[in-house]
Amino acid sequence: MLIVSNWKAYVESKEKAKALYLTAQKLAKGSTHDLVLTVPAPYIGMLSSDKSLVALGAQDVSATLGGATTGEITAGVIADLGATYVLIGHSERRAMGETDELLLEKTRHALAHGLTPILCVGERERDEDARYLKVIRAEIADIFGALTQKERMEIVIAYEPIWAIGKTAAEAITKDDLREMISYIRKVLGDYLPGKAGSRIKILYGGSAEAANAQNLADDTGIDGFLVGHASADVANYTALIKALS
Ligand code: PEP
Repeated sequence: MLIVSNWKAYVESKEKAKALYLTAQKLAKGSTHDLVLTVPAPYIGMLSSDKSLVALGAQDVSATLGGATTGEITAGVIADLGATYVLIGHSERRAMGETDELLLEKTRHALAHGLTPILCVGERERDEDARYLKVIRAEIADIFGALTQKERMEIVIAYEPIWAIGKTAAEAITKDDLREMISYIRKVLGDYLPGKAGSRIKILYGGSAEAANAQNLADDTGIDGFLVGHASADVANYTALIKALS
């Protein structure tokens, strides 16, 4: 499985960043899973190493190409620092006003610099008429509809229901609901890719994944891994989560 940490802004010291990074290195040694750490961008350079067993990513990328754009952290800089992944459209960034057009630009720049975009999609709430399915379809369509087939195959999807983010394992999605959503997302991907190509796209689940629920959510739901927020930013919780999945 692909297990992506999202440290968000929980990590604000070099010491904590290094401790989490070293923990991930140790865990990666004995694990069959691929571990990725999406970290505050300034820490990418500090943590990047050719010998690393874990990959690094950014939590956002500029929609600009560089040049006269003060304060922007471009895909070129992120790739140059040694990252290989980037989160696109995390709900906390969409809530800051990021539009689908902006996310498409970010995705394009990430792809152009060899970064793997992790496209975050997720509904704010579940309604009885299943309108939330349309939300997911639209968020995928806005990006996939504008990319070439080759580019689509480079994307990882992170399904993150917003109502499940930042809670506890007990409040995360149920197994049945997750299985149903993953199969729906595969169906949507099938509209953009020929034959069985859509089944090769990785789909992660994010939203209060912790040691207590991760293995259960991984079994028989069709997910290819997790995007982990709060539990990834604490050495003990992160260790417990990865061990629970081993
Ligand atoms: C996230 O916001 O990407 C996330 C998965 O958060 P948490 O695990 O804290 O719910």
